[in-house]
Amino acid sequence: MAAEIHSRPQSSRPVLLSKVEGHQDVVSAALLIPKEDGVITASEDRTIRVWLKRDSGQYWPSIYHTMSSPCSAMAYHHDSRRIFVGQDNGAIMEFHVSEDFNKMNFVKTYPAHQNRVSAIVFCLTSEWVISTGHDKCISWMCTRSGSMLGRHYFASWASCLQYDYETQHAFVGDYSGQITLLKLEQNTCSVITTLKGHEGSITSLWWDPVQRLLFSGASDHSIIMWDIGGRKGRTLLLQGHHDKVQAICYIQLTRQLVSCSADGGIAVWNMDISREEAPQWLESDSCQKCEQPFFWNIKQMWDTKTLGLRQHHCRKCGQAVCGKCSTKRSSYPIMGFEFQVRVCDSCFESIKDEDRTSLATFHEGKHNISHMSMDISRGLMVTCGSDRIVKIWDMTPVVGCSLATGFSSR
Ligand SMILES: [Zn+2]
Ligand SMILES: [Zn+2]
Repeated sequence: MAAEIHSRPQSSRPVLLSKVEGHQDVVSAALLIPKEDGVITASEDRTIRVWLKRDSGQYWPSIYHTMSSPCSAMAYHHDSRRIFVGQDNGAIMEFHVSEDFNKMNFVKTYPAHQNRVSAIVFCLTSEWVISTGHDKCISWMCTRSGSMLGRHYFASWASCLQYDYETQHAFVGDYSGQITLLKLEQNTCSVITTLKGHEGSITSLWWDPVQRLLFSGASDHSIIMWDIGGRKGRTLLLQGHHDKVQAICYIQLTRQLVSCSADGGIAVWNMDISREEAPQWLESDSCQKCEQPFFWNIKQMWDTKTLGLRQHHCRKCGQAVCGKCSTKRSSYPIMGFEFQVRVCDSCFESIKDEDRTSLATFHEGKHNISHMSMDISRGLMVTCGSDRIVKIWDMTPVVGCSLATGFSSR
């Protein structure tokens, strides 16, 4: 296969540095403590733990705190040492961690949701804790007073959240596959727009405030890049995963997108090239190549005494074609098709061998990834699996070594 010829040498892949084990249930969230060999985890087993790397090279918990309800989401603000933990019962609890990460004090409980908290963002300048939940809403609460400031309801479970700190815009992905862009005010909000493109629930979002790009991952296995700053509605489709996309992270410096899927797939997408938009699928009552009617076109079937055909679509030109006119399959990475998809015969002819060169690298996480986060400044990644294991990876072999120098985390 052409894709094999062009694949990268297998030497550049993520390096597994450590495994953190000991959880009794799924780890819902994990993050790397900036500038420390430490990880904070929040788990369905109702614990929140801070793990520090010991001289033995192993991670051991320096903090082990049991909550009243399973932990479902987490946010951590390093400069102020604040941890916000969202729970299955809808509440968010705030803790303050000591400088040496050996002690954690309870600060406040926020009655943010009626049901499971799915995502949390903390904004220090406005002193807001913003969250989404399975009560179908986004809420924002004041961290000084602990009071509810505003709420907005969606038609389905709100599953993920990104926030633009400067302009107070929130991006909320939901179970219907829709993304809503809202502008949050002190006590109100306005819906700016909704983004529709996925055919499954939104599982992850990433907002890059500098390039003004929004990335969304979904249960339909695909990722969409929404060029919000470009204001032309430009969207790029990225198809390379074979399972739900569980987490995404965009590295602005190297223009790479890292994504993880439920089957353990880790992909690194090169976004530093001009990619093409996948076409809209055209509708037609007959094949746009051979003009044979599709099966619902009774009139033409009757007139020409022919049998109706099934409608398919060429992924490259978007034309409605019959099976006979689209027998070939090809990858087409410039449009985001990293694996083989249906193309019409004329498009197949137009695709050259070099057009099949992969624009992403694919790696094996070797566990069913449910969550991922990165410390971009060090090129480190942490993945949590439904196997209750937390893995820490050195991603510099695949995301470029320029990361380790001269780039400070926010
Ligand atoms: Zn045809
Ligand atoms: Zn075509």
